[in-house]
Amino acid sequence: MVALQVLHQGLKPRRSEEMTPELERLRNMQYLPRTGAAAYIKSDWLPAVWIDNQLKRCQERDAIQATRPEGCFCLGAGKLFARMGVAEEICYSCPEGWALYHHEKTKKEGLKADRYSKAWERCGVPKRFLECRLSTSPVMEYLGDWDVLSDSWFFWGASGVGKTGLAVGWLYERLQAGDSVLFTTVPDLLGEIKATYGVVARSYDTLSVTGEEDVIQKYLTVDSLVLDDLGAEQIGNEDWLQDRLYRIIGGRHDELRPTVFTSNHNIQATGQRIGERITWRIVESCSKSNIIEITGHNLREE
Ligand SMILES: [Zn+2]
Repeated sequence: MVALQVLHQGLKPRRSEEMTPELERLRNMQYLPRTGAAAYIKSDWLPAVWIDNQLKRCQERDAIQATRPEGCFCLGAGKLFARMGVAEEICYSCPEGWALYHHEKTKKEGLKADRYSKAWERCGVPKRFLECRLSTSPVMEYLGDWDVLSDSWFFWGASGVGKTGLAVGWLYERLQAGDSVLFTTVPDLLGEIKATYGVVARSYDTLSVTGEEDVIQKYLTVDSLVLDDLGAEQIGNEDWLQDRLYRIIGGRHDELRPTVFTSNHNIQATGQRIGERITWRIVESCSKSNIIEITGHNLREE
């Protein structure tokens, strides 16, 4: 039995795809009965050789078990083998189990962080603002006790006072809460829609064609959206632009999807620039208490 101990002590728990024959053998032994119980195996139809062999395996299992720390039932494999209807379970009572637990945990956290950082880089936030967080926003005082995870907001004020940074900080919190997130400006959004026109002509050699409806749906259905710099472009006279913007903002409002708007203009002046109809939907989305003027010094001049 000495040889067995040497063998299993050298084993480190691994992910299943890195399973070694030794580790697999231990995991197969995890569900064997104890020798005492196995001794009662009697059968007229099971070959004696099989019973004998099974008893030997059980003795081997017990010998390994005897060397394990108290409470450990994994035989040094770290994980209880998954079987039909039995959840895979990590053994928390032995060093191997703990090592495996931390390995899996770190892997999971790494994957999650990786997924978040990729989503963050792709959500449209300009590079300059990627590091903006609520905790470091100089304008958080305006919001008092802010329930970050609810509601739409309209932040307005002179340029350079930190509205965009605040909106980005909000978006980051939503991402951490598990939302899908997007950031865009109205000119970029309209540019994106316009860019889909004429694509049809190229569709013969393109497998997937993004149409106007895809762009609208993207901004309509994303969990959390920042529409930055509203009213930077005068679109009051262009019906089709108003129509697209109205669909996105109105649709998000109907589905209770939060949006943060920023503008250099107050809500009335914004209305003159993007149309009253859209502006009313914004007011409805945010409610008056969430339309906030951000004042203070120009951060870009400091
Ligand atoms: Zn164990």
